[in-house]
Amino acid sequence: TQLTSLISSHDGPFHTFEFFPPRTEAGLVNLLDRIGRLAAAPMPAPLAVSVTWGAGGSTADKSLELAEQVVKLGVEVILHLTCTNMAKEKVDQALEKCRSLGITNILALRGDPPRSEEYAVDPNPQPDFFQHADDLVRYIRKEYGDYFCIGVAGYPTPHSDSESAESDLHYLKVKCDAGADYIITQLFYDVEGFLEWVTTCRERGITQPIIPGIMPIQNFSSFRRLVNLTKCPVPESITADLQPISSDDAAVKRYGAELATRMVRQVFQSGLVPGVHFCTLNLEKSVRTILENLGWSATSDPNLRASPFIRYNRLIE
Ligand code: FAD
Repeated sequence: TQLTSLISSHDGPFHTFEFFPPRTEAGLVNLLDRIGRLAAAPMPAPLAVSVTWGAGGSTADKSLELAEQVVKLGVEVILHLTCTNMAKEKVDQALEKCRSLGITNILALRGDPPRSEEYAVDPNPQPDFFQHADDLVRYIRKEYGDYFCIGVAGYPTPHSDSESAESDLHYLKVKCDAGADYIITQLFYDVEGFLEWVTTCRERGITQPIIPGIMPIQNFSSFRRLVNLTKCPVPESITADLQPISSDDAAVKRYGAELATRMVRQVFQSGLVPGVHFCTLNLEKSVRTILENLGWSATSDPNLRASPFIRYNRLIE
């Protein structure tokens, strides 16, 4: 089922999970167990599980294998698909495989910059068929019509390749106009900044549901690496909270789950987003704790979950 249909028929705020394909068969078995546990009662069912795609198609077979196994668990799949630095045939094969598995949700991404940026040093350049994510969105629409529900990436802190925040927003709108149905965002920790960005997107005529990417902090060094990579600003209060516990992994993990719980509450309070996308790093404990903290067990009061969502629906009407 298409994600946007699932969103509009879902009662209350939803969540999705992101997983990457493990390298080994044993890793795959363990991950499938984990996904099964996270998708079964008393845990609240995720609306979908997304499966990442290694840049340049490096994990193509493993991503498709994980996607197929998740389908077998009866869980809706979103396949991430990058389009640069790999043969167009790989994109075609992935889309065909999705169709044969009944997967209707794609997150259309550029991936690493296209090789054409290296033309200056390459005497026989082979241009990439796709240059940007909007090319992939247009291509999927042309080849498959409305079969796929297509998501694109959004950046509350502009992507590092962008000339400006303005141009990044412009190209997000271009991706939406090319046929994207929803947006999943890059991780962030500055919730106020994120909500301002959502408001700006709406002012620019971007009407697609925006699903914030929430990455619970798992340990201090991976947090620092990710923040440096994405250049996302970290509020001073978080830096101050982390400083005294930075070498205590268990304390950082606990703090990460509490912080993510507060962030999820805050984004839903705003009434601006319909659901959240958890970047799990294939780990179970933090997201489980967050969902428990939120009281989203199967028995929790549906009215509590519904109220911010009703506000969201009103806002986008
Ligand atoms: P684009 O939308 O093409 O944007 C890239 C840059 O080019 C931006 O600066 C943009 O403003 C600009 N731009 C966009 N369109 C145009 C245009 N037509 N003309 C000129 N400039 C343009 N990577 C992976 O390899 N595998 C994954 O599974 C994966 N999953 C992700 C999931 C999420 C939720 C997010 C946010 C990112 C993910 N990424 C993944 C990372 C992503 O591939 C990189 O951030 C990549 O560098 C940009 O991808 P994009 O789709 O945003 O590109």
